[in-house]
Amino acid sequence: MPYIANSHRYTDMEYRLCGRSGLRLPLISLGLWHNFGENKPQDNCRAMLRHAFDHGITHFDLANNYGPPPGAAESQFGRILQQDFLPYRDEMIISSKAGFTMWDGPYGDWGSKKYLIASLNQSLKRIGIDYVDIFYHHRPDPDTPLEETMGALDLIVRQGKALYVGISNYPEATAKEAIDILNQLGTPCLIHQPRYSMLVREPEQGLLDVLEDEGVGSIAYSPLAGGILTDRYLNGIPADSRAAGNPSLPPERLTSTVLAKVKKLNELALGRGQKLSQMSLAWILRHDRLTSVLIGASRVSQIDDALGMMANRQFTQEELKAIEVILED
Ligand code: NDP
Repeated sequence: MPYIANSHRYTDMEYRLCGRSGLRLPLISLGLWHNFGENKPQDNCRAMLRHAFDHGITHFDLANNYGPPPGAAESQFGRILQQDFLPYRDEMIISSKAGFTMWDGPYGDWGSKKYLIASLNQSLKRIGIDYVDIFYHHRPDPDTPLEETMGALDLIVRQGKALYVGISNYPEATAKEAIDILNQLGTPCLIHQPRYSMLVREPEQGLLDVLEDEGVGSIAYSPLAGGILTDRYLNGIPADSRAAGNPSLPPERLTSTVLAKVKKLNELALGRGQKLSQMSLAWILRHDRLTSVLIGASRVSQIDDALGMMANRQFTQEELKAIEVILED
């Protein structure tokens, strides 16, 4: 059966302008880091993408190295795009990145012009599209001059291979420098992608201020701390969970201190009539300077949980204070 998107897909989602640009992103975006590799059944990947798009999630985030193996998530997404989403390409924001190890030798990592141009060409082939909507430099490179890396991003836009560019994992000072260079080149930085959640607060110490001042959007990755900020680990480590078998979430991170906080946060969330995963996402979006939360999901029901957050995004001052007290404990 050919896929026909839900005609009500834009009814319940909200879209925020990304910094001082004309591009609106959905409050919830879907990332394909761990759940779209060769080891994942295509049916489930396809069901998640359809469900997300059917509910107004227009933004799908990739990187050259997402898999496993590296490249597999782009290929998997590309196959599903060809089967289901080509008629909707102009309703989608597809992003990719380069900056981590992708292939052997001196040209398959970090931030040289050589690497970024070659990597994006490969990504476009794997996905089967002519351009990505957003292309990111994935992490700062201590050895390549920032002018070269930002120059490569500018070139990529001028070549029509990306509509917008962004940076990810750049600390405040380097982000400011990169934003300035991109402004001088005439290709403004659209967006920054930092790790941000109730358990990872570093962006609050300056980075978010810089982005706001400079009119750059921001999209929070790992907003659920890989699943810790949900009810997933309240009663042990389920066999099918990330902590059970994925090196990105070693079980040692689930310390008794962390779990004690998660239990209290869970009670607070239930008191608000929502799941902890929903409160965790709403908390990130509590101020407008965050453009979107970039979730991961291993099944459709988790996307539904995220969508359920839309019904209750308001916090009282007392609730916000109670969250701070729990996090500081
Ligand atoms: P999250 O913090 O949202 O974690 C997602 C995981 O949490 C899911 O895979 C699932 O794990 C669990 N989960 C999600 N919803 C629920 C729920 N309702 N109830 C219980 N468990 C739930 O994000 P990720 O760490 O996956 O990152 C999201 C995206 O951010 C990536 O796909 C990628 O696009 C981007 N990213 C960018 C990085 C960068 O350097 N720029 C680095 C990392 C991520 P389970 O498998 O246990 O079901």
